Amino acid sequence: MATILDTANKARSKKRPRQAAMPDGPVSLIGLTREELGDALRAAGVAEKQIRMRVGQLWNALYHHGHQDFANVTTLSKDLRTSFAEHFTLTRPEIVTEQISTDGTRKWLIRLPSTDPRAPAPEVEAVYIPEETRGTLCISSQVGCTLNCTFCHTGTQKLVRNLTAGEIVAQVLIARDALEEWPTPQEGRKITNVVLMGMGEPLYNFDNVKQAMDIVSDGEGLSISKRRITLSTSGIVPEIERVGNEMGVMLAISLHAVNNPTRDELVPINKKYSLNELLKACREFPGVSNARRITFEYVMLKGVNDSLTDAKELVRLLKGIPAKINLIPFNAWPGAPYECSDWEQIEKFAEIVNKAGYASPIRTPRGRDIMAACGQLKSASEKIKASQISA
Ligand code: SAH
Ligand code: SF4
Repeated sequence: MATILDTANKARSKKRPRQAAMPDGPVSLIGLTREELGDALRAAGVAEKQIRMRVGQLWNALYHHGHQDFANVTTLSKDLRTSFAEHFTLTRPEIVTEQISTDGTRKWLIRLPSTDPRAPAPEVEAVYIPEETRGTLCISSQVGCTLNCTFCHTGTQKLVRNLTAGEIVAQVLIARDALEEWPTPQEGRKITNVVLMGMGEPLYNFDNVKQAMDIVSDGEGLSISKRRITLSTSGIVPEIERVGNEMGVMLAISLHAVNNPTRDELVPINKKYSLNELLKACREFPGVSNARRITFEYVMLKGVNDSLTDAKELVRLLKGIPAKINLIPFNAWPGAPYECSDWEQIEKFAEIVNKAGYASPIRTPRGRDIMAACGQLKSASEKIKASQISA
């Protein structure tokens, strides 16, 4: 069996490693493209003329039925189920905790396989936010984040690595499992939208995020349309065009300031890609139109970016860009160097934005009691590390 697995691993790593290295044991099929699934089957000895059909069956089992165990994949013969179970696995990463907020928001802390045996296992969070007319799943693209935005809790986490496509897709599977949403329903779904607004900068992990979103939106599987997937970026300008051309999902920009000095402080990547360049990339974003608007996120920080002059400047800057504006009340976290703007100030700011034609721009904070709100996500990995250091 070791040789078969070795070949399967080799087949997958021909291009670049998509899955975190699994020490020994069955290979996870979550997050592979159809082509990669075919390669894995071929390496396990499946006859060439059966590959297409088997790939279809496994795709359906994974992403339409949400099976976690080959024993339940009744489209396969008993022998095949046994043989596949020896080589492959459909199981999800380990869920460390599931928390449910008083407002129905749910947060999962997910432990991933460690790529460095000396470091603590990396962990990421995914959050489900139910609303009257939709349910949004917020997923992570990296463990931690390298960008250190000064108002963001994730940015203070030291441990950083890219998630594999499988680890990104697995967050959607875990949420679907917990919400008991299998097989993929056509109507009345609990998860209607996916946002890449959890931990990490998705454009620093472009290829894996793209592969994962292709799988999440695949009509024969999870079937969440790309119009209902939004990628949020802090402004990695050279990658923005590719989001439109190659990924085809909706774009959100973490703007947070209307001039370079303030944005340099809040979102330090602005020193590399300034406001002007960022807004130019938005104007030129492939496919942008009034039906496909770019969302601009703006966190409200008391005395920092919340003056009425800032509001007017925001409206002026976005003129001519088909845009939605999301004012996010700052979600505090222990030791945060900012305060949330006063509610009255947020309303005055919103009024100016409203008058310029942007509807209900204030985003209601959700799941604050379980630290599930925007920018509060931070796994315990670093805390474990800190305690090890002080021990
Ligand atoms: N790295 C990406 C996506 C993850 S952050 C990005 O920065 O866009 C998702 C959103 O939450 C971003 O708009 C981010 O600026 C915002 N955010 C981060 N920390 C926050 C906090 N403490 N309160 C409110 N929003 C926050
Ligand atoms: Fe990273 Fe986004 Fe947080 Fe900035 S706001 S540190 S880019 S996760």
